[in-house]
Amino acid sequence: CGIIGYVGEEQARPRLVAGLQRLEYRGYDSAGIALADEGLSVFKQSGLISDLDIPAETPQTCGIGHTRWSTHGKPTDANAHPHTDCSGRVAVVHNGIIANYDDLRETLPDHDFRSETDTEVVAHLIEVELEHTDDLLAAVEAVVERIEGSYALGIVAAGYDGIVAARRNSPLVVGHGTDGNFIASDVTPLLEHTRSVSYLEDGDVAQLTRDGVRVRHDGAPVDREVTTIEWDA
Ligand code: GLU
Repeated sequence: CGIIGYVGEEQARPRLVAGLQRLEYRGYDSAGIALADEGLSVFKQSGLISDLDIPAETPQTCGIGHTRWSTHGKPTDANAHPHTDCSGRVAVVHNGIIANYDDLRETLPDHDFRSETDTEVVAHLIEVELEHTDDLLAAVEAVVERIEGSYALGIVAAGYDGIVAARRNSPLVVGHGTDGNFIASDVTPLLEHTRSVSYLEDGDVAQLTRDGVRVRHDGAPVDREVTTIEWDA
């Protein structure tokens, strides 16, 4: 339903929580965030954003957040996003529907699934790719090739300083800030940080670091125009 992500110089947690609150108008049944540095910390549950039990000390400067509107699986704590892989190194937030998730799960008989969602399989598929490469962008490019349906995805991983995002038939905006970069499912959570945005197109995969944004399409680099939002929210 709602996606926010931040990587930069400042603490990610307050930005993610404020961003999720800006997205509340869309409605949701569950919320969660993942914070990444050398490790990965995930806080998620069904219910309100304000009920998330996040410790005060969160120095991480990279993370993703999600408000869920369930399509596959009840609104339980386990089904809330972000979803993680078996190793607990990869975290994924997702808007949309992975139509072939059942078939994809069947390709991973050794994997222990902890939710009923269509989304969780994406984390496990990325985990398998990361057995052959350290490049999270390349791993996500390989995985989205196999997904059918609609998705806006935000992904972080332990030991990887940045966010990878991908979209098809579900909107995703990049915010270019002064102290870091953002992704969001719409511009409302971005406006308090930046007016410079670029819109990802169907089939785009993007890598955000604190210094920049790289977008690829069909395996090749592309430029997506950075526009300035003039109107007030
Ligand atoms: N299909 C996913 C789920 O049910 C994502 C739903 C959403 O867009 O919030 O968990």
